[in-house]
Amino acid sequence: MSDLENKLSQRSILPTAMRLLVLQYLMEKDSAVSLKSLEEHFFVADKSTLFRTLKTFEQKKLIHKIDDGCGNTKYALCLEACDCAPKDQHFHFHCKKCKATFCLTSKNIPSIELPTNFKMEQANLVIKGFCANCNH
Ligand SMILES: [Zn+2]
Ligand SMILES: [Zn+2]
Ligand SMILES: [Zn+2]
Repeated sequence: MSDLENKLSQRSILPTAMRLLVLQYLMEKDSAVSLKSLEEHFFVADKSTLFRTLKTFEQKKLIHKIDDGCGNTKYALCLEACDCAPKDQHFHFHCKKCKATFCLTSKNIPSIELPTNFKMEQANLVIKGFCANCNH
């Protein structure tokens, strides 16, 4: 079994050609991938197949969706133990120059005291600035 197939089976996702290709594409990038760049990369594929693939990955917690703070939807791979629960949420960093978005997985979002009976579902915390490549 290949590494890619392994990664899919860990999340109980059956490997199809499209799923393997999308996973490979995501793994090659060191920053989050926008829906637009996926559509451009897989332009020969049926758009609904691509969309279904992303949906499946998201439901199985292989990837998470990011709002980059500028109105773009991006996707990034989850860490192996990620459960996509509030405890797994992390800050994201958006570079204002190259527009890349990075997962800052080394630090989880601190728990915030919410009013009584409020329940946290998700947090969208994006730090904006310049990445190492653009910061000079
Ligand atoms: Zn996750
Ligand atoms: Zn940058
Ligand atoms: Zn992330």
